[in-house]
This record gives sequence, structure tokens and C-alpha cells, in this order.
Amino acid sequence: MNRDDRFVDLRSDTVTIPTETMREAMRTAVVGDDVYGEDPTVNRLEALAAERLGKEAALFVPSGTMGNQIALLTHGRRGEEVILEEQCHIYSFEVGGPAFLAGLLTRPLRGTYGILDPLEIQETIRPESLHTPRTALVCLESPTNRGGGTIYAPTLLQDISRVAHNAGVAVHLDGARIFNAAVAMGIPAAEFARPADSVMFCVSKSLAAPIGSLVVGGHEFIERARRFRKLLGGGMRQVGVIAAAGIVALETMVDRLAEDHKNARLLANGLAQIDGVEIDLKQVQTNIVIFAVRRPDVSASMLTQKLREGRILVHQISADSIRCLTHKDVSREGVLQTLELIRQIMVS
Ligand SMILES: *Cc1c(COP(=O)(O)O)cnc(C)c1O
Repeated sequence: MNRDDRFVDLRSDTVTIPTETMREAMRTAVVGDDVYGEDPTVNRLEALAAERLGKEAALFVPSGTMGNQIALLTHGRRGEEVILEEQCHIYSFEVGGPAFLAGLLTRPLRGTYGILDPLEIQETIRPESLHTPRTALVCLESPTNRGGGTIYAPTLLQDISRVAHNAGVAVHLDGARIFNAAVAMGIPAAEFARPADSVMFCVSKSLAAPIGSLVVGGHEFIERARRFRKLLGGGMRQVGVIAAAGIVALETMVDRLAEDHKNARLLANGLAQIDGVEIDLKQVQTNIVIFAVRRPDVSASMLTQKLREGRILVHQISADSIRCLTHKDVSREGVLQTLELIRQIMVS
């Protein structure tokens, strides 16, 4: 049951509620103490995650933010540098974690819809010098969040990773929604993961599990990451009750993401027809739709407020722009209803 399903909630795909199958799996999960490595359900989820991403091992963590921060702690040492995109989650939405926790310098670059260029990364990696911070890591985000759900093609990930690895620099992929990228491009998630040294992905977003993310990578990396998870207080006990939903997420909720992408397309195409709405349809590649309000008499905050009065929730992300995410708890009808209300507000 949802908190309140009279709303069309497009603020994020994190609002998805667990399925009945998940709840049943949670109720019947076989559990043990995961800090001792004795929770069979967590072990099963970690093995499944590693397999799906084509990596040796995985670590179950409470949130995507903790997963990313653990990856930074594991890859970098204090005073070293991480190259990333200026709007990416790790840099802009993890409360300064790279500086606060791992003690890393951040070197933000501006991407095109959040996507970075291999040449620019090559030029940014610092050569060995007594005076400069060592570049330890490149973080890539795919699909992007503030970039509007855009995807790094596997070839681009390979090019960037080659540049990084040639310079002795590791690559971490923030793949919170990596299965959206996989479904959108029709290729296995492992194709995106292969060039990266580590990947974080969430089962708590469009895959609809209530809680949880995974960090995947090599055996040795994951064993070191496990220590940092414990350090951050992320060592959980009979957490198989939650991991059980993650298994159902990976086994049953991936293929249906195509429906969310279709709804995002429907929303974007409809928005493009409305006077005073600016949207770049090229940017819409997965389940995220970002658009700008370009009317002197209607602001993004006014539109957001009026939609709320009509029981439609969206996320205002800047003075003039709004983000919508489609997911399993938003139907095609909900999208059409949203378009109709935006049309009404914009002509009034
Ligand atoms: C949501 C998100 C995260 C963090 O996940 P939480 O579970 O909310 O901490 C990290 N990166 C990206 C790109 C995200 O969209």
C-alpha cells in the first residue's frame, strides 16, 4: 500500500513501493548475522549483483551515497584528487562527503548533459610531481541524474577508462540507475561495468526495493570496502530481510523499466508541444525528464505549486527547471493527466 496513491508522484523513482512478491520474500527470508558474513540472503544478493555486473564480488550497503563514499575511501588516500562532473551526485549531492570522509580533493569538470569527454579527462589527470596532488580516481555517473538521464555508451566508458588506467588512475562508475541504461540500450549491465574498477548501483530506485545499494568490484577491492562499510556504521545484522527484496528487484523488476522509458518519452514529447516549455528531446534517454519553464508570467515554482494542488508532484531543480521521473507507480494515465494539467496552467 502506498502512503497516498491519490498523487501522481514524479519527484523521483525512489518513491516506488515494494511489490507484494518483495514483501513475501522479506517475510520468509532466511537470515543470519551479516557482520559475521552469515546471512545467506545477503550473500545470495551479493553474488547475484556481482554476476549481473560481471564482477568478482559485491557489498550490500544501506544507500547509494554510502556506496559511493565507500568506493572513494577505498580508491583514494587523503590529499589525492578525484575527477568528476560538476553536477554529479558524488560532487553535488553527497553533502561534501569526498572532502569530509575520504579527504579527497575534487576536480569538477563540466560535461555535456553530464557526460564527460575522454580528452578533457586526459588533460586533467596530473602528471607525477612532488608538488601536485596525485590523481587517484575518475568518477563517472551513468545514467546521469542532473544530466537528465543521459547514458555513457560502453565505447565511451572504455575510452575514458583506457585514458585513466594508462595513467594509473582508477575508475568508479556511479551507476545508481545502471539497469535503466542497460534496458534503454538493450545491452547487459555488465557491458557498462566492464571498463570500470568499481560500480555502485541502487535497488531502491526504479527497481522498487525499499532500501539498499550494492558496490561491486574485484575481490580484494570489496574486502577493503567492507572495512570502510563497518567504519561508517553500515555493518548490518539480520539484514537478509531487506536483501530479500533486492533479489526480487534484480530478478523481476529490470525488464519492466522499458515501460518507464516509454512513459518518459510520452511525457517529453507532450511537453515539447506546450508553448513556454523548453525541452531537448535528445536528452531524454531513460526515465528522467528535465524541462525549463520559459514564460515571464509562470515560474517553475509556480508551476510546481499548481501541479501539487492538482495532486501531481514534480521536483523543481533550479529557478527555471523541473525534473520528473517515471517509475512503476506512475501509469500512462498519470503521465497524460500531468500533461493535461501543465497544458491548462500554461495557457491560463
Ligand atoms: C540516488 C543517487 C545516488 C544515491 O543514492 P541514495 O540511496 O539516495 O543515497 C547516487 N548517485 C546517483 C546518480 C543517484 O541518482
